[in-house]
Amino acid sequence: MTMLPDTPQYQIRGVALYGFNSMASFVDFLMPEKGIRTGTLVAINAEKILTAEQDEGLNTLLQHAEFKYPDGISIVRSIRKKYPGAPVNRIAGADLWEALMERAGREGTPVFLIGGRQAVLEETCDKLRRQWNVNIVGAQDGYFTPAERDALFMRVAASGAKLVTVALGSPRQEQLMLACREHWTHALYMGVGGTYDVFTGHVKRAPKMWQNMGLEWLYRLIRQPSRWRRQLKLLKYLRYHWRGDL
Ligand code: UDP
Repeated sequence: MTMLPDTPQYQIRGVALYGFNSMASFVDFLMPEKGIRTGTLVAINAEKILTAEQDEGLNTLLQHAEFKYPDGISIVRSIRKKYPGAPVNRIAGADLWEALMERAGREGTPVFLIGGRQAVLEETCDKLRRQWNVNIVGAQDGYFTPAERDALFMRVAASGAKLVTVALGSPRQEQLMLACREHWTHALYMGVGGTYDVFTGHVKRAPKMWQNMGLEWLYRLIRQPSRWRRQLKLLKYLRYHWRGDL
């Protein structure tokens, strides 16, 4: 995968990442001069890196994604450790999505939203139109059958969307983005997990103070203890981090 020149790039356990120190610089990179890049944007955290090491399918999906960025604090810390002085801060996927939507609204960029429960998706579209005047050219909730997939891809292509955000959870959203791109390449695709739920207030994120202390993962664990199995991967990742096995 070739990376664009003049952009900060880092390798963590074989995964090539873009890192930015501010939201503004990241958004400027993705939507330069009233345009928008084409490709796939994937948030990377410790869990995804470890899963990809054992799962060839996910590994391939990540390799196909042009714009991978650190969305987890442990990955940001690993970049700072491996590349001392690197100007990289954590930019959470949910915040990046909002910033892109705001810019898209300002510039009239056509947006297509995929994923989430139907009611949540509708609320998300309403709020985006109201708040930032986002030009939504299509939407599809996340509970469609495999047989309906191709029809969805046709709708995305016919809509002319330049920004397609997909909330199905991992790795389903990455699979869907890869398949959709075969039908429509002229867009920036972004995997967004539970972002629509957060945006509409159905799921609470950690308070800002926790986020700033790098403890959002702990907050999520307390709120959703069933995630503990997923978070065990974090311990394994921390071992790599402390050993400098990055
Ligand atoms: N979801 C969906 N279709 C499905 C399963 C999940 O649209 O068949 C949505 C779900 O409504 C939620 C999101 O996918 O909004 C998953 O969010 P989660 O927090 O699990 O994602 P993560 O970022 O943790 O992978």
